[in-house]
Amino acid sequence: MIIGSHVQMKAPEYLVGAVKETLSYGANAMMLYTGAPQNTKRIETQKMRIEEAHQMMKEHGLDARNLIVHAPYIINPANSIKPEVGELAVSFLNGDAQRTKQIGAGLLVLHPGSYTTTDLDTGITTAIKHLNASDIPEGVIVCLETMAGKGSEIGFRFEQLAEILSGLKQSDRYGVCLDTCHIHDAGYDLRNFDAVLDEFDHYIGLSHLHVIHLNDSKNVKGARKDRHANIGDGMIGFETLCAIAHNPRTASVPKILETPYIDGKAPYKEEIERIMNKS
Ligand code: FE
Ligand code: FE
Ligand code: ZN
Repeated sequence: MIIGSHVQMKAPEYLVGAVKETLSYGANAMMLYTGAPQNTKRIETQKMRIEEAHQMMKEHGLDARNLIVHAPYIINPANSIKPEVGELAVSFLNGDAQRTKQIGAGLLVLHPGSYTTTDLDTGITTAIKHLNASDIPEGVIVCLETMAGKGSEIGFRFEQLAEILSGLKQSDRYGVCLDTCHIHDAGYDLRNFDAVLDEFDHYIGLSHLHVIHLNDSKNVKGARKDRHANIGDGMIGFETLCAIAHNPRTASVPKILETPYIDGKAPYKEEIERIMNKS
């Protein structure tokens, strides 16, 4: 099983610190933001201690293919109301795609955005327009994340993501990240994950699924809220999340936990252990 969590990348150790954190959880995958998730301030990648980190990864059998970057969630490619918001989404996506490549990662997770005061169709066409204005370097796959449908979020049905993907010029440089909390909140019944995968395969194609965010949800199915719960403490439940993590059809897809800290402590070591031991 390829499993890990969101880890921090911060001064002074940067990527080396992120690798150490990953190893401390007994994980073989990791996801990080290239800076703070809620802002667009970024340092040069030369300062991120990349080579040293990759050396450490090699020594511990951590495959760079399972090193994932997440774009900051404040960028909104679906906004057509304020041109500067769309422009920032394009320029920041370009920058983060370059940083992803420089860090030695191949996958960049991106929220498709919110239409704000327009409508779903306008949001989808706007996202396509902005993604087509971006230039993703070879070797990087931007993974559009399945959303909960909170507020005016787009991409909470597989059909919507399929529509975005089918409108992209650099279509070979895009894929999908499936978030269990988000799709549960969007109304998908995860108790039959094979049926969910069939539906995903029908609209998008399973070969385009590159990352799974494995989170429990604080809310009932269809609530369209997006509040993550710790594994087994939410409405999806341990059995179902475990079955998802162990499903053979997605065995090669990295599973990333984005569950909340408990009393200021990361829960990932224990959660990974429990999922791997199914107990
Ligand atoms: Fe996300
Ligand atoms: Fe997520
Ligand atoms: Zn979320």
